Amino acid sequence: MTTTNGTTAKTWDFTHFTNSVAGVPRGSPDIHHGINPSDGKPLWDVPIASANDLDDAVKAAQKAFKTWSKTTWAERQAILIKISEEYGKYGEEMGNIVRLEGGKPTPFANGEAVNSAQGLKYYAPFEEEVIEEDADIRLTMRHVPKGVIGAILPWNFPLAIAMNKVGPALLTGNCIIVKPSPFTPYSILKFAEIAQQFLPPGVLQALNGDNTMGPMMCEHPDIQVITFTGSSATGKKVMATAAKTLKDVTLELGGNSASVICPDVDVEKIASQVALGAFFNSGQLCVAAKRLYVHKDVYPEFLKALTEVVKNWKTGPTSEDVMLGPVQNEMQHRIVKEFFEDCASNNYDFALPGKVGDGADGFVIQPAIIDNPPDSARIVREEQFGPIVPVMIWETEEDLISRVNNTQTGLGGSVWSADLERARRIGTQIEAGTIWINSFEKPLPQAYFSGFKESGIGGEGGRHGLYHYVNTQVIHQYKVDVGKSSKL
Ligand code: NAD
Repeated sequence: MTTTNGTTAKTWDFTHFTNSVAGVPRGSPDIHHGINPSDGKPLWDVPIASANDLDDAVKAAQKAFKTWSKTTWAERQAILIKISEEYGKYGEEMGNIVRLEGGKPTPFANGEAVNSAQGLKYYAPFEEEVIEEDADIRLTMRHVPKGVIGAILPWNFPLAIAMNKVGPALLTGNCIIVKPSPFTPYSILKFAEIAQQFLPPGVLQALNGDNTMGPMMCEHPDIQVITFTGSSATGKKVMATAAKTLKDVTLELGGNSASVICPDVDVEKIASQVALGAFFNSGQLCVAAKRLYVHKDVYPEFLKALTEVVKNWKTGPTSEDVMLGPVQNEMQHRIVKEFFEDCASNNYDFALPGKVGDGADGFVIQPAIIDNPPDSARIVREEQFGPIVPVMIWETEEDLISRVNNTQTGLGGSVWSADLERARRIGTQIEAGTIWINSFEKPLPQAYFSGFKESGIGGEGGRHGLYHYVNTQVIHQYKVDVGKSSKL
């Protein structure tokens, strides 16, 4: 098959990984490897990119930007469609990589691999907009790509989050360099390798680095934008470093989202859905329900139903029938273990006891539910990002809202009620970027996604998300004759 840039399509080796710089694979004398969270064993070798590799990538991106930014929206869209079609042929292989590097149960890993192509979604082009026009002036506004984008990624949904940045950045005419988390480099590097055949060199590049790569990207004077997804603590560092060159930043950060259960719900109908919102991906979802607030009238019944659902899920190393896989890495295993220890040492009641091993043979954690800990508990105040979830009692809406909003973060929230007016009244008072009503927390690619407070700056997703990848230029065109024969 002949591809857009004239090369012949290859067959891919899904056990060998390289960085992609200026359209070609690039190795490195420095190698590291991810760890399979299911058994603690090393995965494949992966090259560690250097400062020189980053410089080369930035130069290649700058060169490519000159022509790529001049292509039409339709041309870029056609290329993204080709990439997603080609990529779509390898759902099984990519699913296997996502499963092994991330510790996701097989169906969810396959789901991420396949659904990630949604991030390459296509939107109608930005048209030049007429702000005002009269006999004297034509005032218009247009949007132009920003240049070289640096994308820094977390480990919890490595492929899906990468695609949510690659698609919009390329569609709007930018060039992008993606840096995966060192914990989960494989799926992104392979996607970038596959995509090269359809793109001019330098348009999409991927660099796996060590801990110095993220800061180097934020410092680099020739990267115009950093789009970052990760923790709030690192987000603050990104912003501070990017400030040195006054870079634009989009920060998608952590959260401590609340799920509110009203007294009019049928507990049996919603318990499994709420459980999914809290425990999906073993709690390692930025918008997961990390605090559950249940009205006192249904509290005992709900806690029992929730505990029953979670207790019956199979937890273990990734396989077809597992619902909760391991947490992704040793660091996260240690953090979650500390939450367990804190709850135990404070004598909070465990409605479901859970269990954390020592992590020696993988990072599986049996899920736990904490029965009505105080608002001051660490498990209520901080993002646990793991399968241990507190459930609290509420009585009045006023008190509920103040407790839900008593956090520095504001990523998401959900409200469950048969009374939609009530659900909206509560939901719209929650200080967070996305509110779900009568659904667990599932971001949709067509919906803008952003955080309030320390959950982020800017956002991505949907048509609105495209605006973060463009500068806005306003043209004041005066209707005067400035030709030689005019009397001006
Ligand atoms: P992290 O902040 O530890 O790391 C994210 C990325 O930043 C990694 O690629 C890492 O190598 C890089 N990095 C580390 N230090 C850096 C620095 N000083 N400068 C630049 N880059 C640096 O986050 P994580 O542990 O990978 O991910 C988990 C966190 O991400 C959770 O808090 C979760 O809520 C959040 N998250 C948010 C969203 C969202 O859309 N809001 C989505 C997924 C995850």
